[in-house]
Amino acid sequence: MANLKKSKILVLPGDGIGPEIVDEAVKVLECLRENGLSIEVEHGLIGGAAYDKTNSPFPAKTIAQAEECGAILLGAVGGPQYDQVERHLRPEQGLLDIRAHLNLFANLRPALLYAELASASSLKPELVAELDLLIVRELTGGIYFGQPRAQEVEDNVRRAYNTMVYDENEIRRIAHVAFLAAQKRDRRLCSVDKANVLEVSLLWREVMEEVHQEYADVELSHMYVDNAAMQLVRAPKQFDVMVTSNLFGDILSDAAAMLTGSIGMLPSASLNQDNKGMYEPIHGSATDIAGKGIANPLATILSVAMLLRYSLNQQQAAQNIEQAVIATLQQGVRTQDIADANTKAVSTGEMGNAVIKNLQKILLV
Ligand code: NAD
Repeated sequence: MANLKKSKILVLPGDGIGPEIVDEAVKVLECLRENGLSIEVEHGLIGGAAYDKTNSPFPAKTIAQAEECGAILLGAVGGPQYDQVERHLRPEQGLLDIRAHLNLFANLRPALLYAELASASSLKPELVAELDLLIVRELTGGIYFGQPRAQEVEDNVRRAYNTMVYDENEIRRIAHVAFLAAQKRDRRLCSVDKANVLEVSLLWREVMEEVHQEYADVELSHMYVDNAAMQLVRAPKQFDVMVTSNLFGDILSDAAAMLTGSIGMLPSASLNQDNKGMYEPIHGSATDIAGKGIANPLATILSVAMLLRYSLNQQQAAQNIEQAVIATLQQGVRTQDIADANTKAVSTGEMGNAVIKNLQKILLV
C-alpha cells in the first residue's frame, strides 16, 4: 500500500459531462484552498477516458493514486461508444473495481429537496418540500456479488441464478455507519428488509437489533421493502435515515432521488471502514448533453461538501459550500434541468461561478 496522504484529493472526471461538472467542483476546492484550507488536488483517469488512454477502465496508476489519497471526487463514467467493449473493460467496470479495491462498503445518498425547487418534484409540493432523507446502502455485498451465480443450460433449458448472501460482519459494519449517521441527524433509523420471506433478511434484522444496543439514543424501526417503496412515495418526510442491502438500496435510493425531481442536485458518498471515501453525483455521464456546457454542476459541488464532512472532517467548509448553494438557488440562478419556463437558464460555468461568488461572500464574514 502507498503512503496515505489524508489531505490529498484525487479528482477523476471520467466521461460525458464528468469533466465539465468536475471543473466547477474543483473551482470550489481551489477557492477554499486559497482561503486557507489545507488540501492538495491531483487528477487521474477512470472509466472510458482511462480505457481510451491505457486500455483499462481502472489503470495501475489510478490504483496507486487512489490508495495514496484521503478522498476521491468522481464525475461520471460511461457512454454509448463503449457499448461494444468487452464487459470487463467497460467504463462501469472501473467504478465497480475502485469500489471493491478500496472496500467502499457504505453508500450514503441524501435526498434533499430545497424549498426553492419543491415544484420540480413529481409529488405534490407539500409532501416533499424540505424533504431531508438519508439512505445508507450496503454496496459491496448481497446479491450483486454473491456466489454462486451463473447462467447455464440444463436439459436444453436455460436457467440463471444469483445468490443473496450477507454474513453478520458485513451487516454489523453497515449498521454502525447508519446508526452513527442517524446520531448526527434526527436520531431515527429505519432498517429495510424482506424478513417475511428471506433468511438473509432475518439475519439482517437480528444484527440491526444487536447493534442497536450500542446506540440507545437512536430510535430503530424495521420495514419490509415493498412497504418502504410505497411509503417513500406516500409520505417520504416520515423518514430520517434508512439503511438497507445492496439490491433494495439501489432501487429505493433512485426512487428517493426522483422525489426531489432534480437528478442534477444530488450528491453521494461511498465510504470504507476508515472513512476514506469516493464522492460523486448520483447521475451518470448524461451523454445526451455532454459538451454543450448546460449540465448542472451542483450535485458534484455538493459531493465536495460531503467529501469535506465525512473524509476530511472539515465540517465548517462543508457547511459553507452548502450555504453557498442555497444562496445561489435563492438568487434564482438555474441550469436548464431545474429552470421553469419563465427562468433563463445559465450554463454549467455560470452556475459554478455563482456558487463561488456566494462562497467567497460567506468566507469573508
Ligand atoms: P444519466 O444519469 O447520465 O442521465 C439521465 C438524464 O438526466 C439525461 O437526460 C441527462 O441529460 C439528465 N442529467 C443527468 N445529469 C444531469 C446534470 N448534471 N444536469 C442536467 N441534466 C442531467 O443516465 P443515462 O442517460 O441513463 O446514462 C448515461 C451514461 O451514464 C450511461 O453510459 C450510463 O451507463 C452511465 N451512468 C454512469 C453512472 C456513474 O458514473 N455513476 C451512473 C448512472 C449511469
